[in-house]
Amino acid sequence: MEQQDYIIELRNVRKKFDDADDYVVENFNLKVKKGEFVTFLGPSGCGKTTTLRMIAGFDTPTEGEILLKGVDISKLPPYKRPINTVFQKYALFPTMNVFDNVAFGLKIKKVPVKVKKNGQEVVKMVHLTKDIIKQKVQKALEIVDLEQFETRDIQTLSGGQQQRVAIARAIVNEPEILLLDEPLGALDLKMRKEMQLELKEMHRKLGITFIYVTHDQEEALTMSDTIVVMSDGFIQQIGEPKQIYDEPANAFVADFIGESNIYSGTIFPDHKVKILNKLFPMVDDFPLHEKVDVVLRPEDIIISKPGEGTVDGVIKSKIFKGIHYQYVIMVGKNEVTAQSTLSLPVDEKVSISITPENIHIMKRDATINAYDGYITKNNKVCFAEYDWECDVTQLLKGSSIDEDGYLVGPDHKKYDLTDAEVKVDVDLNKVMISDNVDECEVTGQIIQMVYKGDHYQYLVRNENDDFIVENEWTWNEGDIVGVTINKEDIKLKLKGDIKQYEL
Ligand code: ATP
Repeated sequence: MEQQDYIIELRNVRKKFDDADDYVVENFNLKVKKGEFVTFLGPSGCGKTTTLRMIAGFDTPTEGEILLKGVDISKLPPYKRPINTVFQKYALFPTMNVFDNVAFGLKIKKVPVKVKKNGQEVVKMVHLTKDIIKQKVQKALEIVDLEQFETRDIQTLSGGQQQRVAIARAIVNEPEILLLDEPLGALDLKMRKEMQLELKEMHRKLGITFIYVTHDQEEALTMSDTIVVMSDGFIQQIGEPKQIYDEPANAFVADFIGESNIYSGTIFPDHKVKILNKLFPMVDDFPLHEKVDVVLRPEDIIISKPGEGTVDGVIKSKIFKGIHYQYVIMVGKNEVTAQSTLSLPVDEKVSISITPENIHIMKRDATINAYDGYITKNNKVCFAEYDWECDVTQLLKGSSIDEDGYLVGPDHKKYDLTDAEVKVDVDLNKVMISDNVDECEVTGQIIQMVYKGDHYQYLVRNENDDFIVENEWTWNEGDIVGVTINKEDIKLKLKGDIKQYEL
C-alpha cells in the first residue's frame, strides 16, 4: 500500500510525562487507512487516552513521529489539525440549546475568502454566514438523528441524546479524523448497545476515519475494522476483530478478549500438545519440547459421555446463559470452562475433546525470571534493586565460604567475588508474593494477571524490574504486594571466568 493511502501513521512514538520515571506509551507503531474504524482496547491506565491525546495534539510525543498523510504533525497545535475529539464527559454548554451547542465552534470560526481590494485579489478571513452555519448544523444533526431537537434545552435531553449532540458538535467541523475517547462510558448498558450500532452507522455515512478508545472488549469487537490491543503502554496485537479473537498473539490478549481457558503446555512429537495431563492433537507447528501457552475457547469444547473424549472430568457448576449453558468442568485440579446447549446436572461425569484446529498455541512470553546481577561484598546478589541472600557456592562446584567471607574451592584456592557479574534465574513458581508488604524485601504492583486453569500468572513490577509469578492465590490488578524469594531458589551463573576473582 502506498504511503499516501494511510491518513495517519504513528512511528516509534514514546511518551513520558515530565514528573514520571517511566514511559506510559512505548514504541507505538501504527498505520491507519483513510475511512478505517480503529479501536484502542486495553485495561485502565494502559496508555490509550495518552496516545489519542497525542494524535489530537493535546500532548506531544517524547520521541517519535505522528504523520498525517505523510507529513509530521507532532508539533502542530490541535486547532490546526483536521481532527476533532469526542470525550466521555460531553462538556456541552448547559445554558444553550442543541442548535447553539453544535453551532458554537462554527460561529467563532473564520475561513479564508478571496476578495478584490484596489483591483487586486487578496485573501481575507471572514466568519461563516448564518445560512451556511444553519446548513452545516442541520446536516450534522441529521447524521446523529437529532433533526427535530434544534431548539431543545440541553438539560432536557437523555444521556444518549447529549452524547449525540457532542458527536454532532465534533463532526460539524467536517474533520478528516474523529477521535472518540470512551464516548459511551456514561451510558447504561442498553443505551450503550444502541449507540454502538448508531456510531457504526454514522461512521459509514460520514466515510471519515474513526479512532475509538474503550476498555470494553465486546464494544471493540462489535464496532471496529481494526483493534489495537494495548497493555502497560505497549501494543500487544493489531488485527481485525475476528483475527484477534481466533488467533490471540499471547496469553494477555486471549484473556482480555472474550472468554478463554488458558493453560501452560508442552509440545510433544506427532503434532501433539500436553495440557490437562493429556496429549491433544494440534495443527500448529512448534518445536519439540517447547513450553507454550494454549488457548481453548469455551464454545469449542465438545462435551461427551465419559471415556468418549480426550480427557474425563466432572461438572462443578452450571449457569444458564440464554442460548446455552456455561459449565465449569474439573479435570484433575484444572478448571475447564465450556459452553453447550445440552443440559447436564452438576456432579455429572463427562468427557471433553477439542478439534485440532480449535487448539490455539502461543509462544510463551517468559518461562523464567532472568536478571543481570552482581555479587556484593557480603556475598549477596544485587538484582531488581535489592541485595538478596543467595548461595554463592553454586558458582564453583565443591566450594565453601571461609570465616572471612571468601569463596574457597576444592583445591583451597580463594576467591573474592565482590562485584562479580552474574546471570540470575528464578523459576516463576519460586517468586512469592504477599499482602504483608512491610515484612518483605521488595514491593511491587500487580500489572497484569492471567488465569491458567489451576493457577494465576501475575506480572509484578517494582521500580524498574518485573517479576513473573505463578501461584494459586487470587490478587487483583493494581494490588501492591511484597515480593520474597528463598535463598535456595536464586540460581546464579558467573559471567566470565572465575579465575579473575582469585586472590
Ligand atoms: P483509562 O481507561 O483509565 O482512561 P488509559 O489506558 O486511557 O486509561 P492513560 O489515561 O493514557 O490510560 O494513562 C496512562 C498512564 O499515564 C497512567 O499511568 C496515567 O496515570 C498516566 N498519566 C496520564 N496523564 C498523565 C499526566 N498528565 N501526568 C502524569 N501521568 C499521566
